[in-house]
Amino acid sequence: MRIGVLAVQGAFAEHIAALEKLEVEALPVRLPAELLGLDGLVIPGGESTSISRLLSDYDLAGGIKNLAERDLAIMGTCAGMILLARESADPKVKPLGLMDIRVKRNAFGRQIESFEAELAIPALGEKPFPGVFIRAPIIEQASDGVETLCQLDSSTIVAARQERLLAAAFHPELTDDLRFHKYFVDIVNGSKS
Ligand code: GLN
Repeated sequence: MRIGVLAVQGAFAEHIAALEKLEVEALPVRLPAELLGLDGLVIPGGESTSISRLLSDYDLAGGIKNLAERDLAIMGTCAGMILLARESADPKVKPLGLMDIRVKRNAFGRQIESFEAELAIPALGEKPFPGVFIRAPIIEQASDGVETLCQLDSSTIVAARQERLLAAAFHPELTDDLRFHKYFVDIVNGSKS
């Protein structure tokens, strides 16, 4: 299995390290040709405005959309989640429009830009998951086909799945807990339906 990690900006090295701990071959992706032959793709956190600009500058956006149509599994974390969305409240970001969610950038405001929270994510088992939130977005609205995996309260969804697309507002790659990455690897494998 080969999983690419979009490596134009942001926390890509940490995702590669987490996947390697799971003994998955993880490759940085900077060029359209590097998308070929992948079983899955990670879009990391960083700055969604920069990543969205670089995706078009490097000619990667079209390739990712084409592969998503052919069922490539994609995980987006934090800024990566914003890029997966159908709609972002902020016109500065052009999301890829793959997942039927509307997101809000920097949703926790200046007072609490970064925080950690023990998250209940039933799909990962009973043990709480350490959620690291850094200027995090939220999912404001999710369509029927989207499964909520974690919410902080009724209007604050912070992780969701739509078939082979997985999104988290937090940073699983910045913790030692590999369960979120394992969940994605199982989706890539087709063993998590
Ligand atoms: N605030 C960033 C954005 O809107 C996301 C932050 C992150 O990925 N840690 O792009």
